[in-house]
Amino acid sequence: KYNRTFNFSAGPAMMPEPVLEEIRDEMMNYRGSGMCVMEMSHRSKVFQQIIDEAEADLRELMNIPDNYKVLFIQGGATLQFAAIPWNLMKNGKAVYVETGAWSKKAIAEAKKYGEVIVAASSKDKNFSYIPDCSDLDIPEDADYVYICENETIHGVTWNKLPNTKGHVLVSDQSSMFLSKPCNVSDYGMIYAGVQKNVGPAGMVVVIIREDLIREDIDPKMPVYMSYKTHADNGSMYNTPNCWAIYCCGKVFKYLKSIGGLEEMHKRNIAKAKVIYDFLDSSKMFKGTVEPEFRSLMNIPFVTGSAELDAEVVAATKAAGYDNLKGHKSVGGLRASVYNAMPIEGAQALVEFLKKFEAEHK
Ligand code: PMP
Repeated sequence: KYNRTFNFSAGPAMMPEPVLEEIRDEMMNYRGSGMCVMEMSHRSKVFQQIIDEAEADLRELMNIPDNYKVLFIQGGATLQFAAIPWNLMKNGKAVYVETGAWSKKAIAEAKKYGEVIVAASSKDKNFSYIPDCSDLDIPEDADYVYICENETIHGVTWNKLPNTKGHVLVSDQSSMFLSKPCNVSDYGMIYAGVQKNVGPAGMVVVIIREDLIREDIDPKMPVYMSYKTHADNGSMYNTPNCWAIYCCGKVFKYLKSIGGLEEMHKRNIAKAKVIYDFLDSSKMFKGTVEPEFRSLMNIPFVTGSAELDAEVVAATKAAGYDNLKGHKSVGGLRASVYNAMPIEGAQALVEFLKKFEAEHK
């Protein structure tokens, strides 16, 4: 209808078409306001309603308990790598699990703020699995346990949360946010950059238990980095990313309209299965992750030859399937199939790869 491509990018990524259409229809005059949301004061009544509804819809979708704050913050997930230790380390100590590129980055940043104990790692097998975290060595006074719940580059995901032995769990859900039901009270804090599974780039959603929001923060901490600033001011201490909040709000409503996160999860399982079934039956392509820990969102695969990988990437691009080149640390290809990728996209890609394989025996 629009000549749009199946975009397999790891992020920014596809948005649901009905959402884009609604945004288009409201572009020149948002509901009689006479302006576009991009032009609107964040202090206006119209915008207040947009942010309030976005938060309410997200709370409903995830069933977020009342003792958790929902914050919309700029600076991306990367800023949170620093904000988390700076805000949450009371005793100056935290436990991290190293499962791929994004937990590694979080670890490196946290080391600037306190003692970081890497209690488990899957580095030995190039991050192709999630280590056993049922009995981690966690110091009594550790402030939190940190995980990256879906590693966007390595394509591994947690099926069972770690046993934190009563400690606060902090999770980076950037590349799996809203892809399946989530029991928020299992966590102290969840955060996600929205540009993968939810909306346009430039914002992170933080869901944090109220008692973790500190009054006694380092006086040198930039006011913008303190969770208290955002919690006390309804995410509007300064000008928020109004556009991202508006677009994410539309996606929350869209997810509600299709039946919520259970339905989304079902669709994501079916969609990923199309690709994994193909990889398991192919003689040319092979998934890089142990089956038990395969991500539903990011699917890395290789041919075993860098030249052939490059040839496949070029062929997919020419055929209208975009952004399939794998990250350099894994090589090969990576199909990111977030919420908004229709199953038809996965099916079309598999048909294409099958044909490629048949022609290149
Ligand atoms: N965490 C994960 C799991 C990610 O995939 C990314 C981005 N690819 C980040 C953090 C960093 O996000 P941002 O670019 O929003 O800072």
